[in-house]
Amino acid sequence: LSKFWSSRIKNSAAYVPGEQINDGTYIKLNTNENPYPPSREVLDTIRSFDSTRLNLYPDFSCHKLKSALAQKYGLNKNEIFISNGSDEALAFSFLAFFDCGDSICFPSITYSFYKVYADFFNINYTETKLTESFEVDLSVFDGNYKGVVFANPNAPTGKSVSFAKIKSFLERNPEKLVIVDEAYVDFGGQSVVPLIHKHDNLLVTQTFSKSRALAGLRVGFAMGNINLINALEQVKNSINSYTLDTIALESACASLRDDSHFKTAVSKIINTRTEVSEKLRLLGFMVIESKANFVFISHPGFSAENLYSGLKEKHVLVRHFNSPDIQNFLRVSIGTHEQMSLFLNLINELTIKL
Ligand SMILES: *Cc1c(COP(=O)(O)O)cnc(C)c1O
Repeated sequence: LSKFWSSRIKNSAAYVPGEQINDGTYIKLNTNENPYPPSREVLDTIRSFDSTRLNLYPDFSCHKLKSALAQKYGLNKNEIFISNGSDEALAFSFLAFFDCGDSICFPSITYSFYKVYADFFNINYTETKLTESFEVDLSVFDGNYKGVVFANPNAPTGKSVSFAKIKSFLERNPEKLVIVDEAYVDFGGQSVVPLIHKHDNLLVTQTFSKSRALAGLRVGFAMGNINLINALEQVKNSINSYTLDTIALESACASLRDDSHFKTAVSKIINTRTEVSEKLRLLGFMVIESKANFVFISHPGFSAENLYSGLKEKHVLVRHFNSPDIQNFLRVSIGTHEQMSLFLNLINELTIKL
């Protein structure tokens, strides 16, 4: 601890991202990146970008990208907030909608950033259990909280909650802010964006990092009632008006223009996920049914930690979480068909040897 630190820094713990060993010798199945390159439209946009324009600030209103997203999702431009990755939209939401001492609720097994934000901003939080089948249990969110946040599909389980269940939750809880993190929705979940016009308490976040293969570009967005979006804009404009650079804004627009590349990459990942899930089950793994670009797996006969180390020795990285509830699970991102064949061969060897 340093005498210069604020109590906020002294009393909080930061998020720990999955290992980023990018020396090219590892197969990275640990941070849910898309294994395929982004659309050619994006690559062409970046290649042909006139860098002499970099003397100018980017468009802080993100007009073009908002219009493109508004058209895609059937929303109004002012129902969209653009952020530097959706993590930023989520962090800003905690600041925009909760005071110190307010309470927020989220599942105990979910994206670990929610707890980090709650700690950092001094918001009380309650963590709730998943159901027996690893589903987010919305009925326990009915309690007396100012807001709730959950990922759908959830991370790291990959399991999704139905549209009908979220709709009914919103109908029961009109006074509660409901944040649905749809980082993985394009891989088979059902988006609740169509409910935004009926529910002024619903905020949905999405990202270009996963399904659009642009994790390195840092573009995310939130969608919701104009009053919610205005609050997010106020947070942004009280911290940094230019959170997205010009190249990122233009490349994100280019990515939206290429729907066929997007659909092809997503469907390849879904097919590989189905195949990998089946093969892992044949090897005796419990595989939670995933609607995301990863699978969450556990084997009754082998320790997840040992499997993680065995794979790492062979230069395949997967994610192991050292938290008691999920200690015997591994989260494995879906890579290309070739990467997953190699992964399956190694897992096969390890479950014979260990
Ligand atoms: C990856 C991820 C995000 C956000 O990622 P960004 O790159 O910041 O857009 C948000 N929520 C969950 C659950 C994620 O896994």
